[in-house]
Amino acid sequence: MHLSVPHRESMPRARYRRAAAAALLAAAIAAGGCTDRPRLVERRLYSMGTWVDVALEAPARTAEAALADVEAMLRRFEIDYYPWAEGELARLNEALAAGRETVVSEEMAAVLRDAKRYSELSGGRFDPGVAKLVELWGFNSTLAHPSAPPGPAAIEAWLGSGSSIAALEIQGRRIRAKAKVMLDLGGIAKGAAVDRIIEMFRSRGIRNALVNAGGDLRVLGSRGGRPWRVGIQHPRADDVLGIIELGDGEAAFTSGDYERYVERDGRRFHHILDPRTGYPADETQSVTVVAAQGVLADAAATALFVAGDDWRSVARALGIDAALRVDADGHVELTDAMRRRLVSDDPEHVGSGS
Ligand code: ADP
Ligand code: MG
Repeated sequence: MHLSVPHRESMPRARYRRAAAAALLAAAIAAGGCTDRPRLVERRLYSMGTWVDVALEAPARTAEAALADVEAMLRRFEIDYYPWAEGELARLNEALAAGRETVVSEEMAAVLRDAKRYSELSGGRFDPGVAKLVELWGFNSTLAHPSAPPGPAAIEAWLGSGSSIAALEIQGRRIRAKAKVMLDLGGIAKGAAVDRIIEMFRSRGIRNALVNAGGDLRVLGSRGGRPWRVGIQHPRADDVLGIIELGDGEAAFTSGDYERYVERDGRRFHHILDPRTGYPADETQSVTVVAAQGVLADAAATALFVAGDDWRSVARALGIDAALRVDADGHVELTDAMRRRLVSDDPEHVGSGS
């Protein structure tokens, strides 16, 4: 519900009073919840290691039911899509480790199919087969940071293990692998969760909404009749690089080296690993991608981050038009499609495009 009290100077005093009183009454009714008119409801939850902010426009009852669904979906995702919990992905990894074929849910099969396709298109830069490598670097634990980087021998051994989603054979819901693979869907699960939430909103008839999982987000419709606007986080400052507009159903995801890292001898070791070298990808500070779905935006942000200087060709391969990258020296590069979305930019921060 959009309320504005009329501007005082523009009308006679008595009329102003009446209009203001009417507006206040409408606000009181909306706040009391005794209307089935849509209104903007906002909620913050903690899930998947981050704050998740949800905003949606709906009648009070619809909003409460949808928010209860959001909470249940997030709780399920953090167990079923986290390899070190006791959910569906952990069971799949167990079967893969034992060389057994197994049957997964429709939803998991769809995420695996998308992940495998995006991995191929990215030339293996995005590859959920990195779970053991993530363990070697110690990024599987949300509590303890790694005490030291793994030695070269351990990294070589992992590179030789052939753990890649490319080895997965997916037939409907049946999954098996040609090699020993351990999957970590951390680079795409947030996208899948956000997509599921947006689909649920649509099925409940909600047309305007935002789901923001720590800067990784997707929107529906608009806010107060205007396109949703979101800030792109500066990777080294408590500031935004720019603000972009998103259309109905669009997702914007960011992968950055500032989210989870540890510093050793002046070097930053972070959680986005290059499956081709076994080390954290070091040519980029952050990448932001806009796409029509969360899964693609999420996987692509990780892929472009790993791609480093090759980010433009990997974006093309994945069908991404709008992307922005901050390189290791802090220089900002962006595609023309991303530049067109900027509604305000600071020339000091946003450098030359194309
Ligand atoms: P975040 O989850 O912090 O927003 P990403 O979407 O880029 O960032 O996901 C990073 C996570 O994905 C890591 O924590 C790890 O679990 C996993 N991961 C790391 N490197 C890769 C990679 N090259 N391909 C796919 N997944 C990766
Ligand atoms: Mg990602």
